[in-house]
Amino acid sequence: MREMPPADPFDDDKLKEECGVFGVVGVADASSFVALGLHALQHRGQEAGGIVTHDPEAGFNSARRFGYVRDNFTKASTMETLPGPIGIGHVRYSTAGSKGNTQIRDVQPFFGEFSMGGAAIAHNGNITNAVALRRELIERGSIFQSSSDSECIIHLMARSLQRNIPERMKDALRRVEGAFSIVAMTRTKLIGVRDPLGVRPLVLGKVGEDGWVLSSETCALDIIGADFIREVEPGEMVVISKERGLQSFHPFEKAKSRFCIFEHVYFSRPDSIQGGQSVYTTRRAIGVELAREAPVEADLVCPVPDSGTPAAIGFSQESGIPYAMGIIRNQYMGRTFIEPSEQIRNMGVLLKLNVNRALIRGKRVILVDDSVVRGTTSMKIKQMILDAGAAEVHFRIASPPTAWPCFYGVDTPERDKLLASHMSEEEMRDHIGVDSLKFISLDGLYRAVGEANGRDAKSPQYCDACFSGEYPVVPADMVEGGFEIKTAAE
Ligand code: SF4
Repeated sequence: MREMPPADPFDDDKLKEECGVFGVVGVADASSFVALGLHALQHRGQEAGGIVTHDPEAGFNSARRFGYVRDNFTKASTMETLPGPIGIGHVRYSTAGSKGNTQIRDVQPFFGEFSMGGAAIAHNGNITNAVALRRELIERGSIFQSSSDSECIIHLMARSLQRNIPERMKDALRRVEGAFSIVAMTRTKLIGVRDPLGVRPLVLGKVGEDGWVLSSETCALDIIGADFIREVEPGEMVVISKERGLQSFHPFEKAKSRFCIFEHVYFSRPDSIQGGQSVYTTRRAIGVELAREAPVEADLVCPVPDSGTPAAIGFSQESGIPYAMGIIRNQYMGRTFIEPSEQIRNMGVLLKLNVNRALIRGKRVILVDDSVVRGTTSMKIKQMILDAGAAEVHFRIASPPTAWPCFYGVDTPERDKLLASHMSEEEMRDHIGVDSLKFISLDGLYRAVGEANGRDAKSPQYCDACFSGEYPVVPADMVEGGFEIKTAAE
């Protein structure tokens, strides 16, 4: 039985990162470090979380819970059950196959007992051939416990004939297509792996004398006082143990990296470093590019909080138009109305955002937001600003039009629900009802993330499939199910 609904039931008009992963080895009390790390990664998934640890005396232990890390993994009654110097954890929104119907058995990390010992894995991303793999595994006798695509990895490991867990994991992951950043553990080893294209992030850090950390983002290293060492490279597997320190393997055929460009725009926390760059600095640069590409005369630049803030600052600096907090976010709304009544639900965005009326009245306002997905939130925000007496409303969007769904671990609506899949920029402007609406160009976004010459059309430097429709890994299950992807000529 599901125990609680998503933490923020009003926020249905954003793409949602589906997972964050974290692991640590070589510390006295791994579970406390993992809990803090997961807390820092909570923005990557608020529906549920789990921790697995191993202790030489107590063996493997796990706790998986619905809800926030701070509500579950701060209680002594839970943390005392998770002793040991090694542990991994996972926060999730929801993974493929169980959207809106998550069971506790879908909550990671997953655990498998093999002939050479146990192993637990936590996966961020999405396996794009999971349906075919699952069918094959079930036909061969595997019994699945969850609806998660990630469980395929445990079953593939169980079928491998290799003699140790890292080798079995390599075998399993060579069968897997799609996006994966994995943090795994055995009794003594912490393991991190990124898919050959490095679509989802994974970083490596050091804590204390002997401790090593793996995390989706560097912000979770900061919270435990760990030093950022480097990113796990695309296609790399790192195996960390007390005996051998850090070992690096490259089990996959080499491929050009295609990191998710949307991590820079929205998913990652602004205080993280991704691809060697501060996410905050990149977002500010997006605002600068936007101001150059789509200038407009106005009195104020206001962010749509919180993710539009760095881009709005950049837009203001480049345009010279004053920056102002025209919209204030109520940080605590999501927890106040866990199970809202219909009347309260209909208030939607008003519960979360409020207009700073005294500032807005009579002004020509530029609103900077990170993305437009269905467009429903944009319409409500526009109305709030007009109701507060704004003279004009101009939207500037810090990403190109989101016209295609993501199959690599980000929750997106079906294609026909994406406003940009069936409307031009002008049509969206009229539909939302604003004076102007402009998105940053794909080239402008690439420039902002540090590609001075923009996007290499023949061999793009990032995954940008949700904007371009060019999928770096064919989403085999979706294609089998009838989804038509663009060919290069289109
Ligand atoms: S499709 Fe979009 S959201 Fe998904 S991995 Fe690619 S860039 Fe990121």
